[in-house]
Amino acid sequence: MWLWLLLPVAAASGWWAARSDALRRGTRSDFNLSSHYFKGLNYLLNEQPDKAIEVFIRVLEVDNDTVETHLALGNLFRRRGETDRAIRIHQNLIARPTLSRAQRTQALLELGQDYMRAGLLDRAESLFQELLELDDHVVPALRQLVDIYQQEKDWDKAIATTQRLATSTGQRVNHVLAQYRCELAEQARADGDTARAVRMIEHALEEDTGCVRASLLQGELAMEAGDYAAAISAYRRVEQQDADYLSEVLEPLTACCNALGQREELIDYLQQAYARHGGITLMLTLAGLLRAQYGDAQAAEFITRQLHTLPSVRGLSQLIEIKLATSQGEMRDNLLLFQELAAPLLRDRPAYSCRHCGFTGKSLHWQCPGCKHWNTVKPIQGVEGE
Ligand SMILES: [Zn+2]
Repeated sequence: MWLWLLLPVAAASGWWAARSDALRRGTRSDFNLSSHYFKGLNYLLNEQPDKAIEVFIRVLEVDNDTVETHLALGNLFRRRGETDRAIRIHQNLIARPTLSRAQRTQALLELGQDYMRAGLLDRAESLFQELLELDDHVVPALRQLVDIYQQEKDWDKAIATTQRLATSTGQRVNHVLAQYRCELAEQARADGDTARAVRMIEHALEEDTGCVRASLLQGELAMEAGDYAAAISAYRRVEQQDADYLSEVLEPLTACCNALGQREELIDYLQQAYARHGGITLMLTLAGLLRAQYGDAQAAEFITRQLHTLPSVRGLSQLIEIKLATSQGEMRDNLLLFQELAAPLLRDRPAYSCRHCGFTGKSLHWQCPGCKHWNTVKPIQGVEGE
């Protein structure tokens, strides 16, 4: 409730400003402060804060000196999540005909943010558009509009607004624009318009040659069309784009190579990729392929060698599984015990984390649900993760 203490202070500061003005002008203010002030205080004491706000707003409406106080009060309410009150204060400001242009546009920007906070995106959008027309607070207005279009999944408008923002700020935004094009590709795909989806993916790659998501989408569409060779080249591109995502392509890549009977080529490629980047998922995939191709002994020997340099619970668990296939008696019981002990370590682990804000989750988000950054959520690296 501490905020309520500020209201009388704010009201009083308005009164002081008005009073000193009046004194300077050598006239007496005919504004009856005391009656409004005590009425407001009364409402406060009777825990009728909304009525108190109305009264204090009127008290504050002395002259332009109090506009800053209004703005500060409205922002405080918004930050506290009391958006209704923030909206009332900012609307009240905008309704005043005596505001200077700068004061009015500042109030528009604040009110737009109140609407955002209250989830009234349509109203917020029209205010930010108004600011663009007035050519005032352009960069913050564009940023808020991008946020709105992302929330509404209106990717065409998000693209146009982000491009305008890039022109205003000089920031590089290609990786974000590529993500929007991937979103459009996903929408087209959901609508059954594969040709458009393919085009959007090409646009995404033109925008950002490092767009992993575009390669993954391209691979999926090629696989659906039965064009495994094209899918393989899309998936193999990911290694150059961002090796952190290599674990994402192993499964579909293996499926494509199996379909074409290219198992040895696959093992060759993965061995080279593993030598370049390491990674536990890659190691385990390789071990699985070696096991199928050359047998248990070779796979177990490969995993054991890797575990010496890169200890991991997942590696150990796979090694135990291979050993279980050929062991009996007490040895087998011990291995089963180990496996049981390792199981909780592998269960319920988040597989992805945001490099920007630390958000973790079980699925890959291209836009972080926590901080809303694009391309920052990646497979987790470490002993228990990737
Ligand atoms: Zn994040």
